[in-house]
Amino acid sequence: VIYLDHAATSPLLPEVAEAMREWLGVPANPSSVHAAGRRAAAAVDRARVEVAALLDRDPAGIVFGSGATEANHAAIRGFVELGARRVLVSPVEHPSVYGALERAASSASSGPAAIQWTRMDIGPDGITRVPDPDPSSASGLREPGAAADLVVLMAVNHEIGTVQPVRSVAEVLRPGARLHVDATQAAGRIPLQGLPADSIALSAHKLGGPVGVGALSLRDGAPFPALLTGGSQERGHRAGTVNVAGVVGFGVACRIAREQLEARQARGSALAERLRAGLVAFGGRLVGADPIPAITCVVFDDLPGETLVQALDLRGVAVSSGAACASGSVGPSPVLRALAEPNARGGVRISLGPASTAEDIEGVLAALAAALPPIREAARWETEGSRV
Ligand code: PMP
Repeated sequence: VIYLDHAATSPLLPEVAEAMREWLGVPANPSSVHAAGRRAAAAVDRARVEVAALLDRDPAGIVFGSGATEANHAAIRGFVELGARRVLVSPVEHPSVYGALERAASSASSGPAAIQWTRMDIGPDGITRVPDPDPSSASGLREPGAAADLVVLMAVNHEIGTVQPVRSVAEVLRPGARLHVDATQAAGRIPLQGLPADSIALSAHKLGGPVGVGALSLRDGAPFPALLTGGSQERGHRAGTVNVAGVVGFGVACRIAREQLEARQARGSALAERLRAGLVAFGGRLVGADPIPAITCVVFDDLPGETLVQALDLRGVAVSSGAACASGSVGPSPVLRALAEPNARGGVRISLGPASTAEDIEGVLAALAAALPPIREAARWETEGSRV
């Protein structure tokens, strides 16, 4: 199988699997006071340092949890609990961000100040427009009554790979406004040091760590409302026994991502260039301006992405249409719709991992070369048939 769906999940790196193995089958509850517990707690703290180093942030602010879905919920619902009421959000976030906003809105709406959330503009280039800080402008952040106190903007889009203007948005925020960044698809793919964010969400399995582990990076270890309460794990930030093997694997994946980022980027650029040239030669339209090498979204006019994904699957090539969470429910991609893409059902996402090769790229292009003519022929028949 040629696996080019690393944005959905990327397999465990061998070093990650090796590091995790040590923690499978041994008692490892970091809250236990005995030697085994203390050993586990030390391993979790070493991983905390590695995850923080990928972001160049305070290890004390790293809160381990089950993934980016949870981290997005913890951040957004936490900031709302702390008083955020006017939220600006990009129109191309992961569904967990909108889910968290809806939850936060429904639990706060009975109170005196309901939450208002507004979607920022985006162009066909797939890059969110930086809100205009001019107080006289309709979308102005500083306009009385429209001033956002929480902004949610992802670092890299999950469907089309475009880099979002996190730093520019941070610059126009009014003092006191918070910024939450979902860096799930960016981690291990672009530098993330020094992001001007109050909180950052990560998920281990997108960068060669295990599924079901992630982190929320807060600025420091200061109190923050916990999504899950009960035990005092993670210094009260997240109740529940820590997944030691998973967290250890996450730490190793972050260390490798940090050490190999430049090499990965150089390799990935060469592969993406070849891939994109091939897709365009087959009549594909690339979506978004300057996407990261790891994620390419292509649309073939009039063809549903799902059909191509299935045809490639039959030829042993794994790619996806839109986001994995949304596929299965066949419908237009919300991301492509936000970009006013005419064929919003047409997206095919081809996403590379650190071990992807030139042969993988040639393989997917060869499979497309074989799959496209019969699909186009069938589509032509259907159109002509419907005219009769
Ligand atoms: N945010 C983004 C941008 C994602 O791509 C994903 C995974 N599809 C998530 C959040 C959620 O991650 P997880 O499913 O690991 O919680």
